[in-house]
Amino acid sequence: MSSQARTTFRIAIVGAGPAGYFSAQALQNAQTENLTLEIDMIEKLPTPWGLVRSGVAPDHPKIKTVSKVFEKIATSEGFRLFCNVELGKDIVLSELQEMYDAVVIATGSSRGKKLGIPGEELPGSLSAADFVPWYNAHPDYTEVEVDLKCEEAVVIGAGNVAMDVARMLALEPRELDPTDTAEHALENLHQSQVRKVHICGRRGPEHASFTSPELRELPKLEHTDVHIYQHQILAAKERVESRGEVPKDVRSNLDAMLSIAESEKYNHARSMYFHFLATPLEIRGNDKVEEVIFAINEVRDDKVFATNEKFSIKCGLVVTAIGYESIEINGLMYESGRVKNVDGRIEGTNMYVVGWAKRGPSGVIGTNKSDSADVMKLLIEDLKSPKQFSDLESKLQSKGVIHVSQGHWERINAAEVAAGEGRGKPRIKFVKREEMLGLK
Ligand code: NAP
Repeated sequence: MSSQARTTFRIAIVGAGPAGYFSAQALQNAQTENLTLEIDMIEKLPTPWGLVRSGVAPDHPKIKTVSKVFEKIATSEGFRLFCNVELGKDIVLSELQEMYDAVVIATGSSRGKKLGIPGEELPGSLSAADFVPWYNAHPDYTEVEVDLKCEEAVVIGAGNVAMDVARMLALEPRELDPTDTAEHALENLHQSQVRKVHICGRRGPEHASFTSPELRELPKLEHTDVHIYQHQILAAKERVESRGEVPKDVRSNLDAMLSIAESEKYNHARSMYFHFLATPLEIRGNDKVEEVIFAINEVRDDKVFATNEKFSIKCGLVVTAIGYESIEINGLMYESGRVKNVDGRIEGTNMYVVGWAKRGPSGVIGTNKSDSADVMKLLIEDLKSPKQFSDLESKLQSKGVIHVSQGHWERINAAEVAAGEGRGKPRIKFVKREEMLGLK
């Protein structure tokens, strides 16, 4: 045993998504026989897991298995969960700063960026930032108007979110029956008249931000033909090869796209079409979306320029998946849609920021592991002497706030899994806060 006294610091993490949990894990791993780090994790929703619950597509259950890691972190000593506690309403940042030795902001970025083109506000045009939580049973998004009474839909963006959205619209809904898709969304998708989904990127195939595993799974769709124009991929290959060594991820993406372009089609009733070099200029329609007008672009010297040519796609639904920005929290400064920080430190404060709130909406779930660990290293370096203990639980109680603890969440989780069992689903998610809060 060391003769040095044991010191306990207390850290609040705001946001129970991947970046929050990986921060907690890094703090837990940094403990020594002389250093204890107690963690309180605060989350606005009655349920934890952030994007793993309300972002990851329901037909990607493997990605969600990371929740087992989260639960291990959450059931380790010195960790407490406070769900259903909203920062700015139930507790304010300055209170947390006073109560804790350090505060970690892991609140992500949940507001969809806007195209800023005419017609974007028409009914039938929505952001992936609304559509994705709608099909994932986020309690704040159950009322999103998703009108699937049209034959064709357009998804704008060439990233993995656009691909998730396009797949969800183009899948035979029976394929979603054994998933945890929200019941209201599943019902709507079963009635969907959408048969053709266009996914449109403004730059070339070589610039797309899809990742190749996601592309490579597309030809495996059992009831959907996926069309990529071969000439667009061959032209992109020629362009990148003429510029010298082709980066590995670009080559892998182009190979995956070429193999889709060349794959056999089965005349399925449902199809997905990829269009590159297409900048949306205007969404047209009288009372709702009827058509999207695009500029046709070209690539010169790896830069994209609009030509004078245009094309249009008639459709009844447009979903934009063009990135996210953070929703501002009182007491924090923002720049470019994320919290102002230097390597995760919010300068001049005892606050730190991790995940999308820190670096913007980029990277896969695993990216947050190393990113959070780097920031937690700085946090620990900055710790001086511990503050006097001040208990969040009693503070919330005194304000009449009912929080969902880890034990309570485990009951919600078990009830959802049990409800899914009889119907061959991993779970049936609650969508109403009252139902979840009632499971005391
Ligand atoms: P993203 O990868 O940054 O893609 C955004 C897309 O929107 C880009 O193609 C971008 O084109 C386009 N865009 C931006 N502004 C536009 C505009 N004004 N007009 C037309 N297009 C515009 O973002 P994301 O798809 O939202 O994904 C966020 C992160 O989550 C990514 O790191 C992604 O890999 C990750 N994710 C991973 C998975 C998975 O692993 N399965 C699933 C979902 C999300 P430019 O390149 O031309 O700007």
